[in-house]
Amino acid sequence: MKLIDIWNSSPKPTISFELFPARSEKAAESLEKTIDILAALKPDFVSVTFGAGGSTREGSRQLIEKLKHEKGLEVIAYFAGFGLGPKDIVAVLDNYQAIGIESVLAVRGDTPQEEKFEPHPDSLPYASDLVAFIRPRYDFCIGVAGYPEGHIDAPSKEKDLEYLKLKVDQGADYIVTNYFYDNRYFFDFVERCRGIGIQVPILPGVMPIYSVKMMEMLAGMCGATITDEVRQGITALAEGDKQALVAFGIEFAVRQCVELLEAGAPGLHIYTMDRSKSAVGVVNRLRDEGLL
Ligand SMILES: Cc1cc2nc3c(=O)[nH]c(=O)nc-3n(C[C@H](O)[C@H](O)[C@H](O)COP(=O)(O)OP(=O)(O)OC[C@H]3O[C@@H](n4cnc5c(N)ncnc54)[C@H](O)[C@@H]3O)c2cc1C
Repeated sequence: MKLIDIWNSSPKPTISFELFPARSEKAAESLEKTIDILAALKPDFVSVTFGAGGSTREGSRQLIEKLKHEKGLEVIAYFAGFGLGPKDIVAVLDNYQAIGIESVLAVRGDTPQEEKFEPHPDSLPYASDLVAFIRPRYDFCIGVAGYPEGHIDAPSKEKDLEYLKLKVDQGADYIVTNYFYDNRYFFDFVERCRGIGIQVPILPGVMPIYSVKMMEMLAGMCGATITDEVRQGITALAEGDKQALVAFGIEFAVRQCVELLEAGAPGLHIYTMDRSKSAVGVVNRLRDEGLL
């Protein structure tokens, strides 16, 4: 089912999990367990990322097939167009269509850091170009990325919002946001989106805190503000106590999620980082409270 139809037919807000293809055999074993634990929570859908430049092309396809056909989950296939020429884009999307994918999320992606990568000369510069390419060729429900704090390279939040509007005007059906540690960024973002005429559903992304190192690294990469509240909460924990940190991360995410749902968010999209414990903790608490 297309994501838009899932929202239209679901009496409650949706819960969904983001996964990425494993990069090693050990990670693959662990992902296998994560998938089974998360599937038992019966999410409305899961999403699978796509490495820019096609770096996870095969891994993403295999993971999508596993989730969809072996586990019976609804899957949103992300697609990062960076560096790929039109033929490659069509090859990936034809394949997704053939395996029954109905919803995609189109992002530009970034230059892959690991290897020396030569972008295709005809690769599309922005996600809006990718949406414009996909829309007339496929019947997918198309999502795009939104940044409540503005994209890290954007000249201003206003300009970034104009480019987001362009993505929607080119045919995007929904927006999934980057994560944030202060809901006010999200609420302000939604208001600004509505203010410039973006009417599509906006699904908040929630990233539980898994480790301080990971939190600092990811926030540095995507420009998410680590708020004083988060820093003070972590400082109050016994140093090096990993379990206490994960418990704090769950608690913090639950509070964020409760507020987001009370404000009318269409669902919650949890960035799992291929881990299950925090997602389980958050979802069970929200279900206990009757919010999901
Ligand atoms: C929900 C979500 C899922 C993601 N999934 C993946 C994934 O699977 N794989 C992956 O590699 N990355 C993924 N990313 C990361 C994403 O690829 C990066 O954030 C990337 O830097 C921007 O992608 P975008 O689609 O937002 O780009 P765009 O919308 O193209 O924007 C990129 C930058 O260019 C600016 N811009 C946009 N249009 C124009 C224009 N016409 N002229 C001038 N400037 C413009 C924007 O303001 C922004 O600063 C994801 C991000 C999110 C939030």
